[in-house]
Amino acid sequence: MEQNRKKLYTVGIDIGGTNTVFGIVDEQGHILSHDGIKTKDYPDINVYADTVAGHLRSLIEAAGGIELINGIGVGAPNANYYTGQIEQAPNLPWKGTVPLARMLRERLTLPVTLTNDANAAALGEMTYGVARGMKDFIMITLGTGVGSGIVINGRLVYGHDGFAGELGHVIVRRGGRLCGCGRRGCLETYCSATGIVRTVHEMLSSTDTPSLLRDIPLDKVTSKDIYDAAEQGDKLALEIFRFTGTVLGEAFADFIAFSSPEAIVLFGGLAKAGEYIMAPIREAMDANVMSIYKGKTRLLTSALKDSDAAVLGASALAW
Ligand SMILES: [Zn+2]
Repeated sequence: MEQNRKKLYTVGIDIGGTNTVFGIVDEQGHILSHDGIKTKDYPDINVYADTVAGHLRSLIEAAGGIELINGIGVGAPNANYYTGQIEQAPNLPWKGTVPLARMLRERLTLPVTLTNDANAAALGEMTYGVARGMKDFIMITLGTGVGSGIVINGRLVYGHDGFAGELGHVIVRRGGRLCGCGRRGCLETYCSATGIVRTVHEMLSSTDTPSLLRDIPLDKVTSKDIYDAAEQGDKLALEIFRFTGTVLGEAFADFIAFSSPEAIVLFGGLAKAGEYIMAPIREAMDANVMSIYKGKTRLLTSALKDSDAAVLGASALAW
């Protein structure tokens, strides 16, 4: 009689515009092995799927074989959980709709589940991170864009079409900055990496205040630079964090009214600015939240290592 071996691992794949990374993960969130390829090198989706599958076969063999793998989770921009497709992702090399879940399932004979990167981050926090055991929280990813994953009653909210939870495109300033989505004043235009650079530019050009940031070419400024300047007591840098944190905190106060989360969890470069960003977020949140919610929602930062978070998040989909 054939013994039914316990499924010990899942596979997590994170697809970004530049890199695709994947790894084999156990139930505790340890990454056993990982590998990656350059997404941009594969404009042909069939060659891409063949290559990812080829690399994964070797990793799976080394981990003890396919019978130990519970399934594959994929995090990618514009990935639809319901259809298993990536739909019109502007930063990926494949145009239109790509049935990636089916393509990987056919090649690896394992169940494949897809979701967008911010949803995967939320699942990663819930499975291995600071949101472990929480049933209601909102994940906010602060990166090139602003993404969100909303968990209600222990489940990610997908909406009727699979695209729910685009809180980065909630309008926080009517008629404000032009957004990549074609509308104006989205949260993302103030609080993404590029949004903050726009703030740096506006503040540098509207005052004569001396600032260390004036020495950095504008297209090279990162939240790390602003942090370093703030550490030196740079007034403008502190002002930039205060403005950005206030916009975020005001928005969070509104998000709380929607789902009354136990926590809002922040992930990404900006979240590493510590109290420079957290203090103004907390103050604006408290000042703007309805009194019935006051003091009830915790503000947390991700406990997952940057380099691991994407693979862990994707792998959490496959449990
Ligand atoms: Zn937008």
